Amino acid sequence: MLSYRHSYHAGNFADVLKHVVLVEILQYLKRKDSALEYIDSHAGAGLFDLHSAHAEKLAEYRDGIARLYPSVVPELADYLAVVAEFNQGIDSNAVLNHYPGSPMIARQLLRPQDKASLFELHSNDYELLQQQLKGDARFRVQKQDGLEGLLALLPPRSRRALILIDPSYELKTEYQQVLDTLIEAQRKFASGIYAIWYPVIERQRTEDFIRQMQQSGIRNIQRFELTVRADTAGRGMTAAGMLVINPPWTLLQTMQALLPVLVSHLARDPQAFYRAEVLVNE
Ligand code: SAM
Repeated sequence: MLSYRHSYHAGNFADVLKHVVLVEILQYLKRKDSALEYIDSHAGAGLFDLHSAHAEKLAEYRDGIARLYPSVVPELADYLAVVAEFNQGIDSNAVLNHYPGSPMIARQLLRPQDKASLFELHSNDYELLQQQLKGDARFRVQKQDGLEGLLALLPPRSRRALILIDPSYELKTEYQQVLDTLIEAQRKFASGIYAIWYPVIERQRTEDFIRQMQQSGIRNIQRFELTVRADTAGRGMTAAGMLVINPPWTLLQTMQALLPVLVSHLARDPQAFYRAEVLVNE
């Protein structure tokens, strides 16, 4: 029984970091005309109403996207332009009503020749996602375990693919499942770009996961992390990160420029900081 609903968290600082990285990678892949494939193992509902009862209950978006939009942050122009497509305008008079999840960001950026495969296991979110994408022949949505589902798609015919892995880590076993899946995925499709989201709730748990990634035998991994407040022992999410396997050659430098901007807007206390580093060499 799945209890996690992303509608309670949409647009929070962790989504901002994740989606900034997602936009950067998709924009990079679009530099070539040849078709690309986007695989989203944990897709969520697609589009979130920030004034819904769920979103307003925790109001996490207020310390996330609401600190960046509608004010203009030039360094984040590509990402904010996508958010603007789901709201009204990009100038300082714009109103923030909706937040696009990863599938809708991909839908905004993918071209006619590209394809997307999305997995979502929660019945309600699966239905919502299907509704959002109805009629878009580029998108295939499946109500199936996303880690099993993505393995079945590898290697993709186009040989150019971004795989986003974005579990909620509600179950502690998910860390190991992600790791096992990545090792198998790399065996089937070594050149894919894999972007894996992770939270920091208990720092030690996260660092164990990072160390396991380092020791997995997988090469060419970069780590991008945004810490908005001092770590606590399990009292809420204090940081979130992205691990990117086979990153675009531009990504490290881009994120080294963008992360200080994110810290300056999203910090909750003076201990906020960022990491943008090579975790495992090529
Ligand atoms: N990727 C989304 C975005 O950026 O907007 C957010 C995804 S949310 C963090 C995780 C989603 O995974 C939830 O909607 C949850 O229902 C779904 N989920 C949980 N276990 C899953 C599984 N084994 N396979 C596919 N989806 C799963």
